[in-house]
Amino acid sequence: MSRAKQYVELFKERDSICVSHYPVPISQHTESEVWSLMELEQVNTKDTPTALYLHIPFCDATCSFCPFNRYLKKQEQVDDYLAAVRKEIDRYAGTPFGSSITVSSINLGGGTPSCLSSEELTGILQHMKQAFHVAEDAMIFIEGNPRNFTADKLEDLALQGLNRISVGVQTFQEELAGLLGLYHSVDDSFELVKNARSCGIDNIGIDLMYNLPGQTLDQWRADILTSIEQEIDHICVISFCVVPHTQIASRIAEGKIPGIGDVYREIELYTIAKEMLLEAGYLQYSVIDFAKPGKTDRHATLYFSEQSHMIGIGAAAFGIINGYMYVNSGNLNEYMSRVQDGLLPVNCGEKADELELAHGAMAKGLRMLSVSRADFVRMFRQEPEELFPDTIERLVQDGLLIQDAEGIRLTDDGIIWGNNVSKQFFSSKYADYGLQHRMKLAKGRPVQSVK
Ligand code: SF4
Repeated sequence: MSRAKQYVELFKERDSICVSHYPVPISQHTESEVWSLMELEQVNTKDTPTALYLHIPFCDATCSFCPFNRYLKKQEQVDDYLAAVRKEIDRYAGTPFGSSITVSSINLGGGTPSCLSSEELTGILQHMKQAFHVAEDAMIFIEGNPRNFTADKLEDLALQGLNRISVGVQTFQEELAGLLGLYHSVDDSFELVKNARSCGIDNIGIDLMYNLPGQTLDQWRADILTSIEQEIDHICVISFCVVPHTQIASRIAEGKIPGIGDVYREIELYTIAKEMLLEAGYLQYSVIDFAKPGKTDRHATLYFSEQSHMIGIGAAAFGIINGYMYVNSGNLNEYMSRVQDGLLPVNCGEKADELELAHGAMAKGLRMLSVSRADFVRMFRQEPEELFPDTIERLVQDGLLIQDAEGIRLTDDGIIWGNNVSKQFFSSKYADYGLQHRMKLAKGRPVQSVK
């Protein structure tokens, strides 16, 4: 039996959704409980790394495949939203916790943050920097679209310290871009890279999708080669998912466009990308991320490898403060009215005990390919094998993990099946909560009906 077939039998399907948040927020708490679980009245005495994440849920247009929490941009709504965001920032910054932290990275994600104007984006960055103590060398990272990250906007943002962008290019093939209903053209992507470089932004990241409907191996090779030739610093390769109830799912179901390839095809495409990028000198530092040396995503490395704080601001934002993982309401009106009423807009959350933190350290660490033995022992005073003997032994026997003096890491096969392997470390309490649950939470649906 081929190795791929062996793993298909083991896992049934290749999980394309990375572990992003652990524990999974599933409980509702009152305002005072949230306040206390986040320990906002406590001064932060430990040197815990802290990130700020701001969710901008607006897009200039919506893509046919997109399942995320996003809204078509309407200026009046943007104004109200940014006013609420400022208020939420001030709420955290005004606490003993918020006034005693140093922020080492700021990330604006979405949606499409770059659909906001220069004034709106620079205004919100300035507000964050005034409200919190932000480290001199903080990574300031904005996600966006090639079409609305204009040269002027990039220049203004670079003056505010923007040092990394990440752009949803998805494909350099016109035909596939049309099929996905992308808002930008392939030329927009090339133009963006040129403009970002001329503004001195020295870390340009793109997302590329593989296993698109009808995508050939040569089209995928051409996408990777173009990225290398364009000297893109950071490349995130994402397996295309057909999410039920999206436009593209209906078109595939109606036979108007081809379906996606099977799991063997998916693995072939992933392996092509990996081999080409490693050959070109990129480093793989997560199940999906490749970067030139020195260009890894500090925000992700911080968040997934250490017990850090991440203050999540905005509708549908996830965050973790003092071990309390939370997600804000994803419903815009509900989010804004809660903030305007002086409340934290948390929809639900979960405070991890030490054992759950250890589960999370394994699951999130393996997303980043390995768990350092020294770091794990420093945090939990036990070896990973003492806490998870059966799971580690089983995955080592299956050829998916390696144990050595440095720690626990994924094998080459383990990397291909990295999301499946990471999720083996979820505790039984959270094992059944997957993407559907996360999306419902982010959209502000009631907790009781989501499982
Ligand atoms: S730009 Fe991004 S968030 Fe907006 S609809 Fe397209 S894929 Fe979704």
